[in-house]
Amino acid sequence: MLPRIALRKTTLKLTALTTAVALAITPTLAAAQQKGPPTLRDTESEQLLRDYTRPILRAAGMEKQNIQMVIINESVFNAFVADGRRIFVNYGAMMQSETPNQIIGVLAHETGHLAGGHLAKLRERLAEAQTQMIIAMLLGAGAVVAGSRSGSGSGLTQAGAAAMSAPGEVIKRTLLSYVRQQEENADKAGVKFLNATGQSAKGMYETFKRFTDESLFAARGADPYVQSHPMPAERVRALEELARSSPYWDKKDDPALQLRHDMVRAKISAFMERQDTVYRRYPLANTSLPARYAHAITTYLHGDLRSALAQIDGLIQLQPANPYFYEVRGQALLEGGRPQEAIAPLRKAVQLSNGAPLIAMLLGQALVASNNNAYTDEAIAILRSATARESEAPLGYMQLAMAYGRKGDYAQADLASAQAAFLRGDNKTARDLASRAKTRFAIGTPGWVKADDIVSAKPLPGQKSN
Ligand SMILES: [Zn+2]
Repeated sequence: MLPRIALRKTTLKLTALTTAVALAITPTLAAAQQKGPPTLRDTESEQLLRDYTRPILRAAGMEKQNIQMVIINESVFNAFVADGRRIFVNYGAMMQSETPNQIIGVLAHETGHLAGGHLAKLRERLAEAQTQMIIAMLLGAGAVVAGSRSGSGSGLTQAGAAAMSAPGEVIKRTLLSYVRQQEENADKAGVKFLNATGQSAKGMYETFKRFTDESLFAARGADPYVQSHPMPAERVRALEELARSSPYWDKKDDPALQLRHDMVRAKISAFMERQDTVYRRYPLANTSLPARYAHAITTYLHGDLRSALAQIDGLIQLQPANPYFYEVRGQALLEGGRPQEAIAPLRKAVQLSNGAPLIAMLLGQALVASNNNAYTDEAIAILRSATARESEAPLGYMQLAMAYGRKGDYAQADLASAQAAFLRGDNKTARDLASRAKTRFAIGTPGWVKADDIVSAKPLPGQKSN
């Protein structure tokens, strides 16, 4: 069997917001065209979330299941599991968590849902409830018919109507109590995982306590997390008792981890929030590393490349082994129309990050954009390796297509363009390009098979088949 591309494995559209200009976390117009939850792709943030989750998953016996962390482009607080293999976290949940321990607590709770297989169980319950509901409705309708036929007045008819609505209420209440039970179980499992990894459950308690207070005052428009995770006061009290009984209750986050957390929050603020909000969170007088990071990023995003580069160089002096400072320097130069100068810092960022594929794609982009044919083969090698490890980011395929085009390899160029279009959710373009690629490859070769995969691929859920 020839190797098949991983495209079909995708069950939920997870296209990056990344476009030619934005590999870090800049949302772009392209996002609007994409279906499914728009995600943010950023190596530094994803790495931090993976580092938060890894020990928890190990404690849950799930370390081999390759659970992915996905950051969603939403400013409200939310975190959830949707398909048994991914944990989704809104960037708003990162922003609203002041300590690593607070978001780790939420991740431990979500891992509790994963480990308990709660989603599948809930789906079964819902299917059962639906069946019960239909039966109840049929019985109720039967009673109405019987009542009207007997001609004995309205009493029986009303009884029939009551039979129709009452079971619905009962089923709803049963389901709700089932969901509450799952929440309590996830709390318990989460605390167990935290204890097993020597971490405090205080952050989990703090976050959930905040939501209890919030839901008291905001019945409407509460965070989606509160809506999907009912938090009655007794649940939070039980959690507090459980958490306080842990020997790790008062354990603080490692300062190095707190700094990484603060850096990611500063980065997210700088990329996602209005500039005045960024300066309100991080006033110019604040000379902490996170504040300086936010200042440097917002400066480059708002057009002052020269000042931004000086600020980034200052950061590099303070942490010369931080790959993300070189990444942002390269990105700023690339987006500022200076791809040739972006190559050196991006090479350094790739090296310091042990070849992080999203950063490697930026380097590939800089090599292609520098318009120097001497770089073409290197760009192809880097982009092929990056897309093999990170198969859901269209940017890598877009750049690969350009590099192949430059070499005159139009079969590979069409195939890579088709892959990029497929990941963007543009199925028609993907099929057209893949069909053309098939005519350029010899039948049965790996490229032909990949193109054939795209031609016959079903659209991802949530996408129109066009
Ligand atoms: Zn929950």
